[in-house]
Amino acid sequence: MEFETRAIHMGQEADPTTGATITPIYQTSTFTQEGLGKHKGYDYSRSGNPTRTVLETALASLENGKHGLCFASGLAATSTVLCLLKSGDEVVTGNDLYGGTVRLFNKVFSNFGIKFTYVDGTDPKNFEKEITGKTKLIWLETPTNPLLRLSDIKAISQIAKSKNVMMAVDNTFASPYFQKPLDLGADIVVHSTTKYINGHSDVIGGAAITNSEELYKQIKFYQNAVGAVPGAFDSWLVLRGVKTLGIRMRKHEENALKIAAFLEGHKKIKRVNYPGLKSHPQHELAKKQMSGFGGMISFEVHGGKEDAKHIVESTKLFALAESLGGVESLIGHPVTMTHAEVPQEHKDKLGISDNLIRLSIGIEDVNDLIKDLDQALGVSNVRGKALEARC
Ligand SMILES: *Cc1c(COP(=O)(O)O)cnc(C)c1O
Repeated sequence: MEFETRAIHMGQEADPTTGATITPIYQTSTFTQEGLGKHKGYDYSRSGNPTRTVLETALASLENGKHGLCFASGLAATSTVLCLLKSGDEVVTGNDLYGGTVRLFNKVFSNFGIKFTYVDGTDPKNFEKEITGKTKLIWLETPTNPLLRLSDIKAISQIAKSKNVMMAVDNTFASPYFQKPLDLGADIVVHSTTKYINGHSDVIGGAAITNSEELYKQIKFYQNAVGAVPGAFDSWLVLRGVKTLGIRMRKHEENALKIAAFLEGHKKIKRVNYPGLKSHPQHELAKKQMSGFGGMISFEVHGGKEDAKHIVESTKLFALAESLGGVESLIGHPVTMTHAEVPQEHKDKLGISDNLIRLSIGIEDVNDLIKDLDQALGVSNVRGKALEARC
């Protein structure tokens, strides 16, 4: 079965007890046993819940994986995967990561004796250089947030394999529709299902997917032992969202390509970061390892923080908000929003500057989106005007 058929049908057979066509919300914490230890595969909803199982089966299939596990958030998924490590272990990771992941690494897991080494993830050799006898995991995020840089998943996975190191990839930005890290050699894929997979900005969730029986068993153990699981209703919402992932991703990309081209031609703009542009330094790699370029764009405006602030406060359709991957378009200022927690020197080194703006392109009519950006950019020298018009 092809991707979009699997999104709608995989794991989602009619409900075995009632024939309900759509998976029911099994809103129960516990399950009545027929006799001591005699149950139908479920005994307590932290350990397993039928609605969650359907979602786990569907997501595993979409990543071409054997096993899926769902969590209460993307960071809950990452935390649970990190439970595979022990004090003294080391992780080599790209340096351009989601701000919350950096906070989790530096301020939580570092306290348990795990060492994180950050490298420029655009060159696979940088990972090889930092691997020591204690390295247990390579952590990748590609494309990165907010600079849309890429890491070569296949090349880095070959290094990981040769050094007997596990590799996990945060595939949130591309979604499994455009990128399948397990096919490229990753051991574990992690998602914030909050973003494209759910796609409607109404739930927080996460997932981890693997082909390895052994890793599945271990992560499943930690999923239950740590307990950061999603409720039945949240699982159901994500399941409802995932059915349209393919059609949404195609529209996100179609809109993003047009908007990136519009921005690149605009005189107020210094630089546009979008893997689908020929000017992107890793455009060729994007074409090789992704089947589409996604819906995230970032750009630098001429000027400084005030100019960027003015633009993000001037759009009317693009909502000024954290998060991404929903059907509606969002605009944000990474330095003060998503990346506020990332140390300043780290931001400076990466080029996450005060004049950087991030867009999550929704699936509205692209002409309306371009008109909105045009008016926000057009008045960027006339302070106050656009704010008045915002009503
Ligand atoms: C949002 C996000 C996360 C964290 O997910 P939550 O669901 O917010 O916990 C991790 N990685 C990336 C790339 C994200 O965009």
